[in-house]
Amino acid sequence: MNQIDLKDRVAIVTGGARGIGHAIAERMLRSGAGVCLWDIDAAALDAAKAELSALGKVHTATVDLTSISSVESAAASTIGAFGKIDILVNNAGIAGTNAKTWETDPAEWQRVMAINLNGPFHCCHAVVPHMLKNGYGRIVNIASIAGKEGNPNAAHYSASKAGVVALTKSLGKELATSNIIVNAVTPAVIETDILKQLTQQHIDYMLSKIPMNRFGKKEEAAALVAWLSSEDCSFTTGAVFDLSGGRATY
Ligand code: NAD
Repeated sequence: MNQIDLKDRVAIVTGGARGIGHAIAERMLRSGAGVCLWDIDAAALDAAKAELSALGKVHTATVDLTSISSVESAAASTIGAFGKIDILVNNAGIAGTNAKTWETDPAEWQRVMAINLNGPFHCCHAVVPHMLKNGYGRIVNIASIAGKEGNPNAAHYSASKAGVVALTKSLGKELATSNIIVNAVTPAVIETDILKQLTQQHIDYMLSKIPMNRFGKKEEAAALVAWLSSEDCSFTTGAVFDLSGGRATY
């Protein structure tokens, strides 16, 4: 594994209790960062902390990203534990229930937007002022290739991730002269529990579109996010990086 230097950096990873977020946290700890895992699932957070603590300093915050006050409390708890925040990885997200757009329950549409799009906005709202004060920051937003292409039976998810791409581009421009760099990653399919939320038909459809003919691994996502979170990533902001096994998008 090539070493990426995150020594003395402090990272928040939302949705860090499992899946891609857990792999990102592990990679960052191995690279020298202290990590605060934010997740709504307190039991999974405890398990992740027990597993990862041998690698470095791990703190956890139980948070509901749909609530700005919950996010503000988590940010305060992170600063209390580490004294600063250098890196924010907006990773938490849900797939939602697959359905045709016109058959999607409006409440399900709102739920997906609240977690996938409002969540990253709430986190940026709470954390960017601290980064501005410190004069340093790296923000990585986990969007999805669905946000660029659209996916049938997943308009809510696709629209929420398109919103994350636009949030990334807008914030990147706003912070371009502030030494705070903002980028997005657009994975195709990465093997995690999120796949359990999808129908087999939907999974087969997505696999059929990946030239490498396989799904990605969590560690492959973590490697890209770790680089985007490091000082080595210094002249690219508001950019979107495909993680898609050759699935080409604009
Ligand atoms: P996952 O389901 O394994 O983990 C998501 C985590 O987010 C969970 O620990 C969950 O408890 C947490 N979470 C959910 N709602 C929350 C809330 N309201 N507040 C705080 N935490 C909450 O998912 P994953 O597969 O690891 O996906 C991570 C990210 O990558 C998501 O944004 C997802 O949309 C994106 N993504 C995943 C894939 C894939 O194939 N796995 C593809 C493209 C994009």
